[in-house]
Amino acid sequence: MSEHLVVVGAGQAGGELATTLRQRGWSGGITLVGDELSPPYQRPPLSKGFLLGELSRQQLYLKPAATYERFNIALRLGTRAEAINRTVKELVVSDGSRLPYDRLVLATGGRARRLTLPGVDGVDMDRLDNLFTLRRIDDVDALRPHFVPGRKLVLIGGGYVGLEIAAVATQLGLDVTVVEAAERLLARVTGPEVSSFLEDIHHSHGVRFRLSATVADMAVDASGRRVTGVEVSASGVVDRLDADLVLVGIGMEPNTGLASAAGLQVDNGIVVDAFARTSDADILAIGDCANQPSAYAGRRIRLESAPNAIEHAKVAAATILGRPQASTATPWFWSEQYDLKLQMVGLSAGHDRCITRGGTDTLSAFYLTGDRVVAADVISRPGDFAAARQLVTSGRPVDPERLADSEIPLAQAAL
Ligand code: FAD
Repeated sequence: MSEHLVVVGAGQAGGELATTLRQRGWSGGITLVGDELSPPYQRPPLSKGFLLGELSRQQLYLKPAATYERFNIALRLGTRAEAINRTVKELVVSDGSRLPYDRLVLATGGRARRLTLPGVDGVDMDRLDNLFTLRRIDDVDALRPHFVPGRKLVLIGGGYVGLEIAAVATQLGLDVTVVEAAERLLARVTGPEVSSFLEDIHHSHGVRFRLSATVADMAVDASGRRVTGVEVSASGVVDRLDADLVLVGIGMEPNTGLASAAGLQVDNGIVVDAFARTSDADILAIGDCANQPSAYAGRRIRLESAPNAIEHAKVAAATILGRPQASTATPWFWSEQYDLKLQMVGLSAGHDRCITRGGTDTLSAFYLTGDRVVAADVISRPGDFAAARQLVTSGRPVDPERLADSEIPLAQAAL
């Protein structure tokens, strides 16, 4: 009898895995269970072209809905996986049915982190009609009617997604203030050179920043359902930013509840081996929800990126096909803000030196540990990205002077 695979999470990783298995000739049964109503879609445009109104819903779909039927993949949308019964190998879902599996894949992604205001009573964040997060297509549907020119948007969090939303909002004529707790933008993931480059770009489009500032309280109207202002604390001084709408963009938390309730090992994500297997060999986990060993980093990491979701789905497909193969991929990521295209490769944390090229309209920042480039951020210098990626993946030593000299092709910076 042929094997049956159940995938929980019809997102980027889950959708990719199901279709890849069919494309590679896997003939077992596949059921894809997702709690959203849309077939698997790309999340990155949610804070870019889709929010801007340039892309339709259908353009986000990984595959047209008909492909799943053609591939004999049973899509159970609007269905939440509630529990895993490992003893009898069954998944319990929200409509009460039980789905037997031979192999189960958890591709549950994450949810937007909620803002908590310690010590503040009387503000029920769940009841506020003009406070938003952005993780799902439905979030954009709820948010977009509020994107009216002239309205005041207070954006809490100056990470990539927050900055993308700031760019779209200013392009649509909103008045945007970004509140960021760190002393510079993207402090955890880039060097100061890139932070100040992006801050200047956003400034030139009219975005205001409150750095080293935290949210102390929210002012709400008499109904208790509308935020009218955000109280911000910086260096012990509290002041108020008027707001017509507030967007909280302070990152995500991996959806690991199902796994931990089933007794699987969880530690900043569902712990998997190099072949995407959890502590139960019949259950795999992939994408944003998984904590995986990385050959590039030499340690375990949990990545939140579309390229990782795709790569990790390929690793799981190879395992299911009986030809396990660990990933050797170097993490990479992209972002778009205004007409800038940002491409990042590697992880810059722990670098000891940053060398840049460009600086006014474009910028490449190379992060070195000793004489090796461990990561690079390339902003609108597409020619630099392929070479930067090569420098990072090869681990070849470089000559810092040649690396800094824009006249010398990047490939010739390697020794
Ligand atoms: P997801 O795409 O989150 O899919 C998980 C799915 O599982 C969701 O549909 C979820 O609802 C569902 N689910 C969870 N629990 C259950 C359950 N119990 N039962 C049923 N279903 C369940 N990455 C980039 O590389 N570049 C970018 O520019 C970029 N921009 C982004 C912008 C935004 C606004 C967001 C939110 C993300 C962005 N990302 C970007 C990150 C990228 O989208 C994610 O890394 C990627 O979607 C991860 O795929 P995934 O399948 O692991 O998780």
